[in-house]
Amino acid sequence: MLKRIANSGFNPLELRDKTACVFGVGGLGSIVAEMLVRVGIGNLILVDRDIVGPENLNRLGYTAEDIGKPKVIALSSKLSEIARALGDEFQVNITGYQVDVIAWEKLADVVKKCDIIFTCFDNLEARLEVNYMAVKFNKPLIDGGTSDNGLRGRVIVVKPHITPCLGCYFDSEALYDNKSEEEPEAPCNASLPTTMAIVASLQVDQGLRVLLKKRNVFARININLDDDISITTFSDLKPRKDCKYCGVRDEQ
Ligand SMILES: [Zn+2]
Repeated sequence: MLKRIANSGFNPLELRDKTACVFGVGGLGSIVAEMLVRVGIGNLILVDRDIVGPENLNRLGYTAEDIGKPKVIALSSKLSEIARALGDEFQVNITGYQVDVIAWEKLADVVKKCDIIFTCFDNLEARLEVNYMAVKFNKPLIDGGTSDNGLRGRVIVVKPHITPCLGCYFDSEALYDNKSEEEPEAPCNASLPTTMAIVASLQVDQGLRVLLKKRNVFARININLDDDISITTFSDLKPRKDCKYCGVRDEQ
């Protein structure tokens, strides 16, 4: 089993000593976390404040028996079972925090432990809170989001001070924001599992490439299933000099 996956280019042996944190384990984050376990991540931290409700069942990740449980608890037990069935090579240490990241006193410590961070929130404030710490401690962050109608999405790869951080895009008038794209911070009302699975897959793909130092990492990937079916990559984006999160170093 191990050999077959090792041939794919993402070797679980190289992921065994890596720590990933998934912030927000709803429709995107639960898929991201599951994929990380299935490729052999060694340490996984899950952070989410919510309880599973019936409204979560039109997306992937949870089943009816999870209703009423904290998402981090329901997901941790499912992922532990998957890891057990995969065998010893895929052992994963999972830590779950049912907490709101805003002003969370452990956020800095959790971020410091990570080799890679995935933000899968449905709101901008939480994204920017984690972005602040990721930039501060120089940790790569892979953000995923979908549009209000559920048919567009995007993945942003933040390599602090190398690619734009989330603050560069969303903190003020967004320089790089595609006008045709809907507000990225809007909750995903339509919650289409189709788009979310594509966005989550590309988040994990980019995260693994960053972790394993592989090529084809893009600062931003836009997914459009609305006007067309297209995936557009952007690699030449630079941080904004006036960004209050990541632009400071340029002023020094
Ligand atoms: Zn920035």
